Amino acid sequence: MREELDKKLVEKYPLLYRDRYAPMTETAMCWGFCCGDGWYNLIDILSALLCSKYNYAKERYDTIKEYYDADKKWPWVGGKEITPEDVEERRLEMEQAKELVPTVSQVKEKFGTLRFYINAGTDEHYNYIRFAENLSARICETCGAPGKRRGQGYIYTACDEHTEKGDLNVNETDYLNDERNYTPVVEGWLREFISTMDDGHLRPGNDSGDSPFGVKIIFDGYGENDDGEEDLNTESFAIFVHKNSLNEEFPEHEQTPWCLIHRPKEEVCIWAWYENDSDEVTIIPFEENNSTELDHDFVTKLIFEIEKRDNE
Ligand SMILES: [Zn+2]
Repeated sequence: MREELDKKLVEKYPLLYRDRYAPMTETAMCWGFCCGDGWYNLIDILSALLCSKYNYAKERYDTIKEYYDADKKWPWVGGKEITPEDVEERRLEMEQAKELVPTVSQVKEKFGTLRFYINAGTDEHYNYIRFAENLSARICETCGAPGKRRGQGYIYTACDEHTEKGDLNVNETDYLNDERNYTPVVEGWLREFISTMDDGHLRPGNDSGDSPFGVKIIFDGYGENDDGEEDLNTESFAIFVHKNSLNEEFPEHEQTPWCLIHRPKEEVCIWAWYENDSDEVTIIPFEENNSTELDHDFVTKLIFEIEKRDNE
């Protein structure tokens, strides 16, 4: 986002963006708003909502204080005179509301949609955020006009004018929608696997961790740094869900000496990354590659059914 708009948001919502200029060792907010100008209005409105209770309480306090200080103590609500206790009560309300304003820790674009992270929010805050993130899939990130998710491999949200020639609309899979967003489920499986797998240097194909019945998870190798060297901080994983995973044991893959043979007709492979230092898991939605020929809705439903099976 251009500097001018970035500054404007920080000035308008200083509490929310109090970490904007904090060091990178403390917050990812040091990178600013890592998305296009087209989402400025969306972020502006989301920011206003996240502070709305505090702003309301502040206005109420400012009003009573102004009247009190100007010696216009009468007539106040109910024909009474304003007392110092009335002023103090509103000041306390304002302080309480202030404590609940979350701190934003990261704002970025990912898979064509807005990702907005806060520290310690209320349910209401998270609902606003989810709404804004979903809406971003309909707003051109470049100019703010109505848009759609596009591209192949690299996914972005754009209006017709800002769509690269030849790029296609992405299937409206809408995996951000609550009941269809399976990635937190898969993340849960992966975290359980990671916490139970072998220690030490792993070989690709290692499946020593725990995974749900019928599902196969394997360590798939370490990342590479810019010099092409192995980066032990970054680990990649593959999560296989078979069409019969709900009721049957996972049917083992046939293997060549180097790798296993994927079966796109009967299973889906979901790739994921894990960063050791930040404890961050990134699930790559299967809709964004060609890892399966199974119906996408079927796969999504299956993931939720497996989760349900194991939680009952
Ligand atoms: Zn546009």
